[in-house]
Amino acid sequence: MKAGTDHAELAKLLFPDITKIPEDYELRYPERAIPAGACVTRLGPSPTGFIHLGNLYMAFANERMAHQSGGVFFLRIEDTDRKREMEGAAETLVDSLAYYEIHFDEGVAIGGETGNYGPYFQSRRKDIYLCIAKKLVEEGKAYPCFLSEEEISHIRLTQEERKLTPGIYGEWAKHRDLSLGEVRDRITKNEPYVVRFRADSTSEHYISVEDGIRGLLSMPENKSDIVLLKADGMPTYHFAHAADDHLMRVTHVVRGEEWLSSLPIHIALFSAMGWEAPVYCHTSLLMKMEGETKRKLSKRKDPELSLGYYRSEGYHPLAIREYLLTIINSNFEEWRLENPLRPITDFTFTIEKMSRSGILFDLDKLRDVSKEALSKIPASELSRFIIAWAKAERPEIAAVLEYDIDYLTMILDIGRSAPKPRKDLSYGAQIINHVGYFYDRLFEIKDPYPESVPPEDISVLLSEYLAGYKHSDDRSVWFERIRSIASANGYAAKPGEYKKNPGQYKGHVGDVSAVIRVALTGRVNSPDLWEIQRTMGEKKVRERISAAVRANSK
Ligand code: GLU
Repeated sequence: MKAGTDHAELAKLLFPDITKIPEDYELRYPERAIPAGACVTRLGPSPTGFIHLGNLYMAFANERMAHQSGGVFFLRIEDTDRKREMEGAAETLVDSLAYYEIHFDEGVAIGGETGNYGPYFQSRRKDIYLCIAKKLVEEGKAYPCFLSEEEISHIRLTQEERKLTPGIYGEWAKHRDLSLGEVRDRITKNEPYVVRFRADSTSEHYISVEDGIRGLLSMPENKSDIVLLKADGMPTYHFAHAADDHLMRVTHVVRGEEWLSSLPIHIALFSAMGWEAPVYCHTSLLMKMEGETKRKLSKRKDPELSLGYYRSEGYHPLAIREYLLTIINSNFEEWRLENPLRPITDFTFTIEKMSRSGILFDLDKLRDVSKEALSKIPASELSRFIIAWAKAERPEIAAVLEYDIDYLTMILDIGRSAPKPRKDLSYGAQIINHVGYFYDRLFEIKDPYPESVPPEDISVLLSEYLAGYKHSDDRSVWFERIRSIASANGYAAKPGEYKKNPGQYKGHVGDVSAVIRVALTGRVNSPDLWEIQRTMGEKKVRERISAAVRANSK
C-alpha cells in the first residue's frame, strides 16, 4: 500500500465513526498535578473472580509506591475479555483489598467510579482505543489482517516444523500490504479481521530497558505484528494497557513476571505512539517449598494462593500486611527488629529491594509473623476481631463467643503481661482451637493423660485436688498444694528430686499438674494453669475436675 494518502484512506475505511484525534484525549486527560517525583500507579486486574495472593502482593507494592511519594493509586478493571468475566468481581476485589487496608484514590469503586481519568473499566474506553489505532493506521504503523484461524494455525504448524519463532512477522505477515481496494472488498464481504501492529524490526536487534526491579535488561526487539484490536473490536492487553497507562498518566507499573517477555512489544508500542513508557517493574513468581524443591504456587494444589483463604481462616489483616512486606522488601525484617512498634507505613518501601528471583511464600513463617503481630494487638481489640470473623466465617461459634465479650478478652489476655509475653495466638481458626476449652460447648478432651501416671491414680489425684481447691489461693499457695498431693501419692514434689532418684517415685509434680491440665483444658499444653483457672472461674473449674473424676473412676 502506498504511504500517505492510502493509509489515511484505509484509516477512514476501518474507523468511519471515529472523529476524535489522540490530541483530544491528551487535552481531556492532562498531566497530573502532583509533586515532582510522585508516582502514579494502578492495579489492572481482569475481573475473573479469582483473587489471589499475587493481586494483593502487587496491590501492596503499587499502593506503597504511590502513597509514599504523595502520588495517586487507582483501580482499572481490565475487562476486555468477556469470556473470563464474572459478575460482581470488581466489587469483590475492592472489598477484599480494603480488608487489607489497600485503598484506591480513584477508579472503580463499590457503587461506581471516581476520578478524572475514567472511564476505569476498559470495556468503556473502546473509543479511545479505536482513535489511537486509527492514528497508527494513518501513519502506516498498523493494518487490518484477515488471516483466518485455520490460516494462522497452519502458519504455526509450519513454523513449529521449521523450528522458527512463532508469530505473524516478515513473510508470515501476508496482509501487511494488501491494497486499499482489496481491503475494501473484504470489508464489504464482512470478512472478519483484526488490526495488527506493523513491527519495525525484522532482524535480531536487542533493546536495552531499565526494569525498576531487575535493573538494565537486554531483550530482543519486537519483530512480531501483534494484534492491537481483536475481531470484535476490543483491544488486546498489550494495546489497551499502553493506551491507558499513557492517558491515565501512570508513571510506574508493578506487574507479574509473566509479562516480562512481552516487554519489547510494549516498548515498541509506546515508541510507535510517540509516548514515554512508564517504568516497568516485573515482580517474581510466588513459590513454595515442596520437600527440597521450590515450585510455583498453584491454584489447584495450594488453597493458600487464594486471598479468600486468609479471611476465611481468620488471619488478621495486619499480620498479612506485615508478612507481605517481609517478602516484598528484603530489608523489612531488619527494620522491624529495630522498630518493633512503629506502624508499617513508616517503613520506606523501595522497588530496588524487591526480589528478582522466585519469592518464597511460607505459610509457617506467615503464622509466626502473625503471632508476633497479634501479640501487639490489645486483647479487647483482638476479641472484637475474632467475633467479627466468627460471625462471617464460623457462625456456629460466633454465638458462643459473643455471649460474653469480656470473658473472651480475658482469655486472650492470659499470659500477655508476663515478662516473656505469650505469643501463641496466630489466626482465628487456630485461636478457637487453642482456647476452645474455655467454653463448655467447645470443650473436649483432646490429649491423653500422661503415660507415667497409672490410670487408677487419675481420679485419686483429681479428687484430692478438688477437695483442697480454694479459688482464692495465690499462685504459690496453690502450687504448694499440688506439691503436697504429689508427695502424698508417691510423686516427687520437685522434678530435681525425681531426676536424682527416679526409682523411688512414680513421677513428679509436673505429671500431677499435667493430669489437672488435661482435666481442665483437655490438652497437655496450655498457657499458665493458675491463670486459666482465674479466668474460667471457680464453678467451671470444679465442674471440670468433678467430671474428670467421674470419667476416670471405675
Ligand atoms: N490485566 C492484567 C492481569 O490481570 C494486568 C497486568 C498489569 O498490571 O498490567 O494480569
